[in-house]
Amino acid sequence: MPRDEELIGSYVSREESPEIEMLAQESIGEALSVLFTKKGLFQKTELSFDGMENYLKTIGKTNIDSFKKEFSKRPWVPVTPDLPKDDHMRSEFFCGIADSPLNTPNDEMKLTLPLPPIKMHCSKCKDDHTFSSIGVLWADGFMEYYPKLSEKTEQLFNFSYNCGVCKDNFVGFLVKRDGSKLTLCGRTERLHINVPKGAPKKLRGIVADAIGAANENDISAGFYHLRTFCEHYMKQCIGMPVSEKITGDELGSRYNASLDSRMTSGLPAISTIYESASKLMHERAGGREEFDSLLNDIEGHLSAKKLFEMYATR
Ligand SMILES: [Zn+2]
Repeated sequence: MPRDEELIGSYVSREESPEIEMLAQESIGEALSVLFTKKGLFQKTELSFDGMENYLKTIGKTNIDSFKKEFSKRPWVPVTPDLPKDDHMRSEFFCGIADSPLNTPNDEMKLTLPLPPIKMHCSKCKDDHTFSSIGVLWADGFMEYYPKLSEKTEQLFNFSYNCGVCKDNFVGFLVKRDGSKLTLCGRTERLHINVPKGAPKKLRGIVADAIGAANENDISAGFYHLRTFCEHYMKQCIGMPVSEKITGDELGSRYNASLDSRMTSGLPAISTIYESASKLMHERAGGREEFDSLLNDIEGHLSAKKLFEMYATR
């Protein structure tokens, strides 16, 4: 994650600075990057203070709690790294902060940070590319009550990024900051979804819905869609119409009977995945980990099947 000593500007005169500020810059950059590239709407990330704590240990200090408090309160001023120097002040003004006057308490000093480049899917290039920050918008600096400094300072950021390759794909993220917590409140493009390669074309939309639901933390809906995928997939493979009524057990055993005999032991079975997704959905149990593990098993089953089909006639 980028760090920039020059951006910090006015140093707090103490042994820990400016290294501690640069570690905070990195930590905020990391939290934003995770939010932009891995999270769906209304998901959160929190700053990690591990790097700061480790640094403090190396200089024989244990005062991490005071820094947790301090960086949760200081107003943040994210800037586009490519911006000419003279324009940095403009960003500070527009976020309602301007320069911290002399005698500003440490925990009210602005913390300027460079915005990290992020790697994500470009819907125009149809490939993964690096996006760079092209600006940040916030409530303007004319209202003195913004940002609201407190133990959990609140700020609302609107980040804009552009694809580094086509330079023609502007994407935006709306982020609410509460202290050291960040919530993704808006994104111009849905998080890109990679559907497992072996999924049949007609059923890919169901898997995409499952992953989309899980990305927005509706895990039960994710299990529901995975279960639907398993049902439709098994019916498609044995040539049964989707509307035909059959119990899960019966469907599972008819599907299993249609498989290459080498697939019966030790490999993830679609019928078992169907049962697990069903159970988790009805009990409203399980989290992202269980979801990812079922998705992994589906992928495993599909690729094993493809492999055995390839060598079926030899
Ligand atoms: Zn592009």
